[in-house]
Amino acid sequence: MRTPYLAGNWKMHKTVSESVEFAQELVRTLSSSRSKLMVAPAFLSLPAVAAVLQGSKILLGAQNMAPEVEGAHTGEVSVRMLTDVGVNVVILGHSERRHSYLESDELVNRKVRLALEYGLEVILCVGETIEEREQGRVEEVVGAQLREGLDQVDARQLDRLTIAYEPVWAIGTGKTATPEDADAVHAYVRTVIGAMYSPDAAQRLSIQYGGSVKPTNVKELMAMENIDGALVGGASLAIESFAPIALFDA
Ligand code: PEP
Repeated sequence: MRTPYLAGNWKMHKTVSESVEFAQELVRTLSSSRSKLMVAPAFLSLPAVAAVLQGSKILLGAQNMAPEVEGAHTGEVSVRMLTDVGVNVVILGHSERRHSYLESDELVNRKVRLALEYGLEVILCVGETIEEREQGRVEEVVGAQLREGLDQVDARQLDRLTIAYEPVWAIGTGKTATPEDADAVHAYVRTVIGAMYSPDAAQRLSIQYGGSVKPTNVKELMAMENIDGALVGGASLAIESFAPIALFDA
């Protein structure tokens, strides 16, 4: 039985004070949740939000990370900086990083291995564009992102890995994959992980869906056999929309 895992990616929203205030509201409101919860504020807000979340059941996430531990890498944030301020989880391979900042599977893989090596949990995002879906290439694209993103990742590290299936065409667009379409891709993700590792590892793997998840669609998505959680963008920015998602089974 996989624990539901609901996560909010705040992207480039909220100042430090706005993030602190919102985190305080989340801690108060979500204390009864039975799910695994995480929020990922912007880098600058991480230390202040870490202090608010301490002792709560909400994990602290970062939205990205450098592929090196330290050095001359202007503008980057390292894994040691993240763990030092209390970050538990890092989101890697988000489609906005892949498409706007041209992150390759090879780069994403270096980040994944480094994050796991330093004890962080990882949410690895995968997903196809609308063109790739229309060309019938969903499995080819998602399969390659998984195989290359997890290259040289040891089976013993899989308990700190979550996969987020986020069809690019559904992110921030208001378009959601149907629960059946999303579940079919999640099942495929399990097949790939089963072939790479073991059927048992595939069964234990937590797979989130991401792409315009809202209070109105979270229950039907979460009812699907292979959907274990959600990675939420827009609807994670306000208590009125994120609380019903995080408490979907209340
Ligand atoms: C995301 O960016 O991971 C995401 C799923 O965004 P949204 O919920 O706004 O579609």
